[in-house]
Amino acid sequence: MAILAEKFMKMSLDEIARLFPSQKCECGAVMEEHPDEQYAISGKPVCSDCYFSALGKEIERHPIYNPTRIARSRLSR
Ligand SMILES: [Zn+2]
Repeated sequence: MAILAEKFMKMSLDEIARLFPSQKCECGAVMEEHPDEQYAISGKPVCSDCYFSALGKEIERHPIYNPTRIARSRLSR
């Protein structure tokens, strides 16, 4: 959206904030704008709480084992 600098300078902070709406997660949380704090599940942007909650559930379903234990158990078959 193009806007004249003259008009921009006369806008209030609330009007300026409305020009740059914050992206919200479906849980209602306002998402971080820093590039290191952006998360997505299946390409869909989510907040860090939703991301790590989903990650925790996946790890519970698919635990991370000691790789040497898995390798030894496969060798013994
Ligand atoms: Zn969320």
